[in-house]
Amino acid sequence: MIAKVIVDVAVNQTDRMFDYLVPPEFEQTIVPGIRVNVPFGPRKVQGFVIAIAEDSEYDSSKIKPLAELVDLKPPLTEELLALSTWVKDNTLSFHVTVLKTMLPAAMRAKYDKRLSIHESLDEGEVPESIQPFFPETNEIESWEKWSKDASELDKKVMMTAIKEEVVLVTPLVKTSDSVKKQQIVNLMVSKKDLEKAIESTPSRAIKQVKLLEFFISHFEDESEYTLTALLEKADVSRDTVQSLRKKNLVSIEEKAIARDPYEGRTFVKSEPLPLMEEQQTALDPILDSIHQENHQTFLLRGVTGSGKTEVYLQAIDQVLKKGKEAIVLVPEISLTPQMVTRFKERFGSRVAVLHSALSKGEKYDEWQKIREGKVDVAVGARSAIFAPFEKLGIIIIDEEHETSYKQEESPRYHARQVAIKRGEYYKAPIILGSATPSLESYARAKKGVYTLLTMENRVNHVKMPEVSIIDMREELRSGNRSMFSESLVKGISDRLEKREQTVLFLNRRGYSSFIMCRDCGYVPQCDHCDISLTYHRTNQSLQCHYCGHSETIPSICPECQSDSIRFFGTGTQKVEEELLKVFPEIRIIRMDVDTTRRKGSHEKLLRQFGEGKGDVLLGTQMIAKGLDFPNITLVGVLAADSMLHLPDFRSGERTFQLLTQVSGRAGRHLKPGEVVVQTYTPDHYSIEDVKSHNYLSFFEKEMGIRKQGGYPPYYFLVIIHVSSEQLDQVVSVTEKITHFLQRELSDQTFVYGPVASTIPRIKDRYRYQCMIKYKVEPKLTNTLQEVIKTYQSETTRSSLAIHMDMNPYMML
Ligand code: ADP
Ligand code: ZN
Ligand code: ZN
Repeated sequence: MIAKVIVDVAVNQTDRMFDYLVPPEFEQTIVPGIRVNVPFGPRKVQGFVIAIAEDSEYDSSKIKPLAELVDLKPPLTEELLALSTWVKDNTLSFHVTVLKTMLPAAMRAKYDKRLSIHESLDEGEVPESIQPFFPETNEIESWEKWSKDASELDKKVMMTAIKEEVVLVTPLVKTSDSVKKQQIVNLMVSKKDLEKAIESTPSRAIKQVKLLEFFISHFEDESEYTLTALLEKADVSRDTVQSLRKKNLVSIEEKAIARDPYEGRTFVKSEPLPLMEEQQTALDPILDSIHQENHQTFLLRGVTGSGKTEVYLQAIDQVLKKGKEAIVLVPEISLTPQMVTRFKERFGSRVAVLHSALSKGEKYDEWQKIREGKVDVAVGARSAIFAPFEKLGIIIIDEEHETSYKQEESPRYHARQVAIKRGEYYKAPIILGSATPSLESYARAKKGVYTLLTMENRVNHVKMPEVSIIDMREELRSGNRSMFSESLVKGISDRLEKREQTVLFLNRRGYSSFIMCRDCGYVPQCDHCDISLTYHRTNQSLQCHYCGHSETIPSICPECQSDSIRFFGTGTQKVEEELLKVFPEIRIIRMDVDTTRRKGSHEKLLRQFGEGKGDVLLGTQMIAKGLDFPNITLVGVLAADSMLHLPDFRSGERTFQLLTQVSGRAGRHLKPGEVVVQTYTPDHYSIEDVKSHNYLSFFEKEMGIRKQGGYPPYYFLVIIHVSSEQLDQVVSVTEKITHFLQRELSDQTFVYGPVASTIPRIKDRYRYQCMIKYKVEPKLTNTLQEVIKTYQSETTRSSLAIHMDMNPYMML
């Protein structure tokens, strides 16, 4: 028997399957998806078994046997295994990188396993062959220890039992966070014995008697308690329980508990709401698709506050009723407790949450619940698209236009593409939801590739907020030099009077704070990257946002020795200071990378704001989404166009999307909302159309511009990034690649380059790129693979690295 293995060595030459002999004791257990340790050159490395074959095309005397099994059960399902090949081909990544991406981080390391006899088996049903393995208990704590002493035959017998599910395998994944333990108290005796115990207990031991009486009166209900619950219910102390244990009336044992991040919180079950007409019209075709089990991709465009989430919830409800499962993707920053709560309230403990703020161990626990079929809804950010369900009935991608659905490191996959692929396999519908769909998706919906569903009105016909665009040039002309326009100041003071709340949004992109010498204009740069250092006030340092390099703030300009080196730019801290000058009494809750670094702080700040402990919520991108507080009636946008001038063809689209999102936070409930947008380019269509809430108008104009420039969705793009520590090598290789592509690809395809990347050096590596624009290019994948094969092979000798980015979102 031969196992075809992808080894965990991510360089090009090894990105193929290697054949290994399967030793007889593993033959029973080994299936595709299991990980193994194999000899590879002088080392032993981990690998994924992709296929099992009868024989090999290589000389069998040269094939080495695999060393051991890492898993006894495959962590990846067959479907995910097949999907990994597809992702690898479509992103031009190493296969092993894709496979590892599909697993929770905690599982990537080696781990031990616990074995136990299936609990449904009665003593008489346990096969004799395995009885000797479990002499006292139904468990073997450590597979590793057991298998070291076991004979080959024993191992084989055990593996058969595992395969037949007589013996269950529980992975004991070691995680950096310690496993939480819980003490379980078990009653060991009958009711009669308890009564006898009371009689023999001296009456001065009041507490013991009390506890015994508690056990007797609850005897029929429960025989097992967590220690903490017992102490509370029976109102006794730990010592009392210990004294009963000494008398062998109860046992106390430690059990590991799954770390539930929402532990201790109670969720009141929410019932489906009677739908608005538009919601019902949108939901019906989705339900049809669920019932007929035909895969379709729906694009649900619904204005902010139109009740998209309720539509998702009711669609999922149907899926669960059919015994199937659901994945809901939301952007990382909107994966707020508010959002999660809505799902937990509807579906209770059947929901797993995969969030980057969870510890490795917590993430693993959630993942394992999915793998074991203990939950049937997974809510999470991008990587939750790989949730190992086996009966998927729907995938929902909320805020589908969000660029965070594209992974910006290898494998550079887009969750939307993966979702559709999985939907095809499971014959399940995909819902892409957004108030401002990406141009790509909306264009596809218009062409009929996706099914378009529209909700134009807010729930209960709440009005869209009134948006005013303020020309900051005018403000300056009329003598207002502050960063707040007159309308905004008036708006805020109005809200303070009425005890309503304001959200102030500062778009930090392109507006980061830096240090500059007022005399000579010197700006400190990172020594390793061609980029200005960012000023961090909290720890008074300058930091590079690309490599993390940090240095102290110079007090004297290194160029001209002047001492007027100052802080510039408009960070949130600066806005806070300025706002306090205008309103000294105002209570500001500031939310940015600095104030939300600690785990849970994001949630805490939002909760405080929700409880009315702040008049103003001031923040960056992270406040744009998901906020739903009834008392927010004013939204101010400080620098609406800061993003508009980035060298990226999507800058107009992003500006429109972001402004619409932020505006959508105002007046979502009974009180009407108002939005003040401050800008230096009030006439730009992506700002104008926000005022009229007109997505379609924006779409048409933006499509015109894309057509003119030959950008997506009219063309597909590929960017090839080349980087190296040696500048001459980068330039010459990028040049060769560009010429090669020009030669190989068809005449209707355009190849541009080589050019230096927007940030020409990061971490001491020089960066060049070339770009491909195409409509139809059958030779694309092969040609790009050829490029990797030809030029990547130089990496063994030099530091040259090539990255392909298919359908890039980061143009920088
Ligand atoms: P969106 O996601 O489209 O911005 P939400 O799903 O957050 O909108 O809905 C906005 C608000 O309307 C929420 O508070 C939600 O509970 C409420 N809502 C949604 N559907 C209904 C309905 N059919 N009846 C009453 N309230 C609803
Ligand atoms: Zn200077
Ligand atoms: Zn740097």
